[in-house]
Amino acid sequence: MPLPEAGQALVRPRSGEGLHALALTNGGVDALTQKQKKKCIMNAEKFECAFDPQFNESHLWPIYMFRPVAFGITKRREKMKLLVLCAISLVLALHAGLAASEEVEDASEFNYDPRSKSGPARWGDIREEWRTCSNGSMQSPIDLTSENVQVVAHLGRLNRSYEASNATLKNRGHDIMLRWEGVAGSIYVNGTQYLLKQCHWHSPSEHAVNGRRFDLELHMVHESPKGEAAVVGVMYKLGQPDTFLSSLTKYIEWIAGTHEVQRAVGIVNPNRIKIGCKYYRYEGSLTVPPCTENVTWTVVQEVRTVSREQVKLLREAVRDDSEFNARPLQPTNRRPVQLFSPTDSKLECENP
Ligand SMILES: [Zn+2]
Repeated sequence: MPLPEAGQALVRPRSGEGLHALALTNGGVDALTQKQKKKCIMNAEKFECAFDPQFNESHLWPIYMFRPVAFGITKRREKMKLLVLCAISLVLALHAGLAASEEVEDASEFNYDPRSKSGPARWGDIREEWRTCSNGSMQSPIDLTSENVQVVAHLGRLNRSYEASNATLKNRGHDIMLRWEGVAGSIYVNGTQYLLKQCHWHSPSEHAVNGRRFDLELHMVHESPKGEAAVVGVMYKLGQPDTFLSSLTKYIEWIAGTHEVQRAVGIVNPNRIKIGCKYYRYEGSLTVPPCTENVTWTVVQEVRTVSREQVKLLREAVRDDSEFNARPLQPTNRRPVQLFSPTDSKLECENP
């Protein structure tokens, strides 16, 4: 099947028919490079994607999202669907919203299925207070490409000061979240203190580096006294197990096996989350509704490792019938992205 041109409507393939994946951006549909292709099969119940062995690269996740509105729906039906969506949005708008910097905890209203009316391209239509998901100009995640990254030495090492504290593991329906109940310490960015609140995992990674997505991404969500968020992202590729996840395995298994929504896990030390010294810095947003902007992102450059079983466990524990929980890449809109790389990395990165 030839790849459609950017902006061209896709035709829904018949059951069992293969279709190559396309990258999704707000600006349109971009054909992927040969390397990033993936074959997807659609049948009556399910839409499944698997690597096309011809293009497979062991640790490389392709950009896999589709533009859902383009799936062989006639314009008339599309209009009807939009009208229904508007009506639903209006009803939903009557419900009370969230505090601006908080991620949505009840995931039943949105999902990652590109064909669903609650999929990523429609998040902004679901609730009035989620409009930023559609019309924001500083959305996350983004592709961190060599072209848009400026290497700088002045940002300095990430100033982290964490402490062990009581935590609870929670199944949010779209991800597994570890929330610290007590004071778990903070990071300082540009003189502002942001307290560590929670961490959670996305698979595959949400951010990409030169078009590559990795197998997993951890987000450590911090909040300032003003309610602004600073998120630290750590990416993982398949390899040795991650020791922090290993320490939580039995609790995650418990949540997965018992269908329990949350479980106290005792004292958890955030310092056990290992991160490298160099990092990307840019201004973005939450990657789930309400997609609030003015989020300071720190994406650690060093890609760590996680075992296949650990990624599988996190995915299966969520039980949302989705194979992934990563939002499609968002346009950078010429946002500056800095990469902190010290001039003397041996001196600055290895000494505490
Ligand atoms: Zn996240």
